[in-house]
Amino acid sequence: MHKADIHKGYQILVNRQHPIKDKQYFKGQLLPLGHRFNDSLLEKNTANLLGQLLDMIGAEEKIVLVSGYRSKKEQEEIYHSSLKEKGKIFTQKYVALPNCSEHQTGMAIDLGVRADHIDFIRPHFPYSGIAQVFREKAARYGFVERYEKSKEAITGISHEPWHFRYVGYPHAQIMHNHDLCLEEYITFIKDYKFGEKHYCFPLDNKKIEISYLKTDANSMDVEIPDKLCYQISGNNVDGFILTTWW
Ligand SMILES: [Zn+2]
Repeated sequence: MHKADIHKGYQILVNRQHPIKDKQYFKGQLLPLGHRFNDSLLEKNTANLLGQLLDMIGAEEKIVLVSGYRSKKEQEEIYHSSLKEKGKIFTQKYVALPNCSEHQTGMAIDLGVRADHIDFIRPHFPYSGIAQVFREKAARYGFVERYEKSKEAITGISHEPWHFRYVGYPHAQIMHNHDLCLEEYITFIKDYKFGEKHYCFPLDNKKIEISYLKTDANSMDVEIPDKLCYQISGNNVDGFILTTWW
């Protein structure tokens, strides 16, 4: 693994302190969601799993994808038009700076309940009805509500009930079970150093293990036993999160 790869993957933390480093993030892997979502783009697995989740709860006609992937240029435009129209205080609360927005990863979605008028910066996505059904099933499909009220001091972003982030399963489920936002989860996983003590997540008769690898050198070799399936993601801070299962 190369040091530069810590900026890629499903569990990367993107915020004001940890901006996007990889310029071509997910380019070429973006999947259009088609007419039902105004041709929004999302990272491939994010798009497929969002589609599956909406189908499973019968929400195709009831929930609207208000915003998916945004380029850096689009984020700049949104930021500046919000500054102009809504002012500095509102913009700092609800609009991320260019390169600090999860939307540039293709793994963030803003959802709204279908209505005649939809607020594109703060769509209506309440804790009731179909929106709540979505929320309750989200973790199983790898999504987390990213900016909860109780985590404002940690995320530095005001409560956004409409913004969800794909981090993958079982990471979303673990975050939900332990009440951790992504900032906290990145720190939490650092206690499970690869080769020492792994975080074990039992699932049916499978065994999923999660561990953390810190990068010191420019590249490092990790040996994963042949019988194991694995996925690896950078954390966009200082290392990798390894997920293995068999
Ligand atoms: Zn958003």
